[in-house]
Amino acid sequence: MNKGLLSVDEALSQMLEQAKPVSDVEDVPTLEATGRVLARPQRSTMDVPPMDNSAMDGYAVRIADGTRLRVAQKIMAGSVGKALEPGTAARIFTGAPIPAGADAVVMQEHTTVSGDSVVLNRKPKPGEWIRTVASDIARGAEILPAGKRLLPQDTGLAASVGIRSLPVFRRLRLGLFFTGDELVMPGEPLAPGRIYNSNRFTLRGLAEVFGTELRDYGIVPDSLAATRAVLRKAAAECDVVVTSGGVSVGDADYVKPAVEAEGTLLMWRIAMKPGRPLAFGNVGKSFFIGLPGNPVSSFVTFLIFVRPFLLKAQGATHVEPHAIAARADFDWPEPDSRREFLRAKWDRQGGLELYPTQDSAVLTSTAWADGLIDNPAGHAIRRGDSVRFLPYAELYR
Ligand code: AMP
Ligand code: MG
Repeated sequence: MNKGLLSVDEALSQMLEQAKPVSDVEDVPTLEATGRVLARPQRSTMDVPPMDNSAMDGYAVRIADGTRLRVAQKIMAGSVGKALEPGTAARIFTGAPIPAGADAVVMQEHTTVSGDSVVLNRKPKPGEWIRTVASDIARGAEILPAGKRLLPQDTGLAASVGIRSLPVFRRLRLGLFFTGDELVMPGEPLAPGRIYNSNRFTLRGLAEVFGTELRDYGIVPDSLAATRAVLRKAAAECDVVVTSGGVSVGDADYVKPAVEAEGTLLMWRIAMKPGRPLAFGNVGKSFFIGLPGNPVSSFVTFLIFVRPFLLKAQGATHVEPHAIAARADFDWPEPDSRREFLRAKWDRQGGLELYPTQDSAVLTSTAWADGLIDNPAGHAIRRGDSVRFLPYAELYR
């Protein structure tokens, strides 16, 4: 039934084989490095914490000295105390260095203060509430691997060991254009038969999510000359050109002949739903990826094919999205003979519900959903079954 169709995995592996990480590396301030891909592993040049310090507001004590102690000093975060004299405690605050001689911190909730003394209401355990030197990061340890796409907490981690700039791969220049005589922009009059160019918004947003430097060539009319001209310009200016529409084999589909005239093209019919037509090729030094025009199809094929391609070409080592095994709270008795990417959403019981229509023209389903169920070809789903779920949160990483 799927004769002549290429599997998703086969198409993806052919694409990823071609995606070579950009070779240019630039140093960017750590403050601006979120979303970029790290080009070299980062090591810490210091211990974290750099010294034993208190995990609580309370009293630093020597356990052997008993439970009634004179409070002889006060140590705030950022200051250093004196060695603990016998029979004394130090009032101490979170993050402040543990004074020499102390072997535990008692949290203030477990003490009673009387005059200049403190009574410990329970005997502390050795090391209690002390964060020991290097317990988080030892000097010389790798804190971030090369090829990691940096999240906010990664740049925070780099900053916590004093790294103020990071070597990252150059952003990929991504060109986008949208084919179709029927397309108009919101704000323009919608003449009969016309539709709004929603793909421009969806695909631009995705291009931004994956940290590319975007060039948007706008709407291109359905003509071979116009398509060739924009394609030539985009390919000369960008590393990758992604288009929407015009990849079927209808009368108004000029993407295929345009790419063939300007470069080389593989036209694929992919065994997936939504999706199916997908074009992959080269124009000059640039890669070309032609997505279908249907709004849901272009969204899904971007996430399944363009996303990993862009990540790999930008130097990321991990490009496969994390899938979650989740419970289906619905029946799907009549699966397609192609692999399906079903729009689904978490319900209150922690399972998944399905958008009632899975038509590839219904963009509402993508906005309603929390992610895509990756359903194998011909696989019926019964309520209670475990399904492979790709949450947007994972697809957008
Ligand atoms: P095509 O792949 O060009 O045959 O387009 C398939 C369907 O998607 C047609 O119904 C188009 O009108 C629609 N379509 C194409 N491009 C866009 C776009 N940029 N935004 C929204 N819908 C589109
Ligand atoms: Mg079209």
